[in-house]
Amino acid sequence: MEKRPRLFIVIPCYNEQEVLPITAPMFREELRRLTEAEKIAEDSRVLFVNDGSRDETWRIIRELSEKDPHFQGLCLSRNRGHQNALLCGLMEAREKCDITISIDCDGQDDIRAMDQMVAEYLSGAEIVYGVRSSRQTDTFFKRFTAQSFYKLLNWMGADTVYNHADYRLVSARVLKEFANFREVNIFLRGMFPLVGFKSTSVYYERNERLAGKSHYPLKKMLALAFDGITSLSVKPIRIITSLGVFISLISFLLILYALIAWMAGRAVAGWASTLIAVALLGGIQLISLGVIGEYVGKIFLETKQRPRYIVSEKTEEMA
Ligand code: UDP
Ligand code: MG
Repeated sequence: MEKRPRLFIVIPCYNEQEVLPITAPMFREELRRLTEAEKIAEDSRVLFVNDGSRDETWRIIRELSEKDPHFQGLCLSRNRGHQNALLCGLMEAREKCDITISIDCDGQDDIRAMDQMVAEYLSGAEIVYGVRSSRQTDTFFKRFTAQSFYKLLNWMGADTVYNHADYRLVSARVLKEFANFREVNIFLRGMFPLVGFKSTSVYYERNERLAGKSHYPLKKMLALAFDGITSLSVKPIRIITSLGVFISLISFLLILYALIAWMAGRAVAGWASTLIAVALLGGIQLISLGVIGEYVGKIFLETKQRPRYIVSEKTEEMA
C-alpha cells in the first residue's frame, strides 16, 4: 500500500482564548475522520501558532498538547500579524510533514472542506485553494468591502484567487520551493500562485465566527489590500507614468494654445486656469510621490533582511 501523507493543520491564533476551546476539538475530530478514512497518516498534527497573544491562548495550546500529542504549538516572541504567524507555522511544519492545510482558528471556514482538499491532493494537486462560495453570513458591509478588495487586487495586477483567503492545502514540495521566496513583505495568497505547480479550488460556505471578535476591521483590511498590491505589482507606478504622459500631452497643447494666443495679441490674465493647473498638478504630484515612496519604503524594509518571525517557545514534538 502507498504511504499515507502526514498532514499538519496550521492555525495562527491571536487572542483567541474564547474560541480555541471550541474549535480545537473540531480540528482534532477532522484529523480523526481523515485518519479513519485512511486518507492521512496516524501521526498527523494540529499545529497552533500563537501570535504573541496577550490572553490565555498559549496556556490553552500547551495544555491541549500535554493531554493529546496530536496538538502541537509554536509561540512567537511577539505579535507579528496573521501572515507572518502563518508563514512561521508553514515553515516549521514543512520538514515534518507531506501536506499542510492552513486555516483560521475561529471556525468560520468549513473544517469539513478538508476532506475534499485532501482528496484533490491524493489525485495530484499540489495546492488546493479553499474558496468561499457565498458570504451569506457576513454583514453586507464586510461582504462589500471584502469583494471590492479582491477586485481591486486583481485589477492592480496582484494575481489572486477570487474569494480565497488563507484556507488552503499546500504540499511540502511546494513549501520547499516557497522557502526561497525571502521577502519580508508577505502576502501569502498572492504568492502561492507564483510558485506554480498543479493547483485547484474547493468551494465551501463561510460561517459566522464561533466566538471572540474579528481582528480585521476596515483599517486593517485596507492596509492588507495596499500591502498586497504594493508587494505583488508595480501597476500603481505604471498608472502614474501613464497619467504623467497624459497630463504632459494636455500641457503641451495648452502651451501651444497660449503661444498662439500671445502671438495673436489677445493673451488675457487668466488666473483661474493658472490656479487650476497648479492645484491639479500639485495634488497629482503629491499622490505620485506617496505611491513611489511606498515602494521605496518596501525596498528599505527588504534590504534590512530582518527575520520574519522569532519563535520563543515550542511544544515538545516541535522542538
Ligand atoms: N490572527 C493572527 N495575528 C493577528 C491577527 C489575527 O494570528 O495579528 C489570526 C486570528 O487568530 C485568526 C486569523 O488570524 O485565526 C484570522 O483573523 P480574524 O478571524 O480575526 O479575521 P477575519 O476572519 O475577521 O477576517
Ligand atoms: Mg475570522
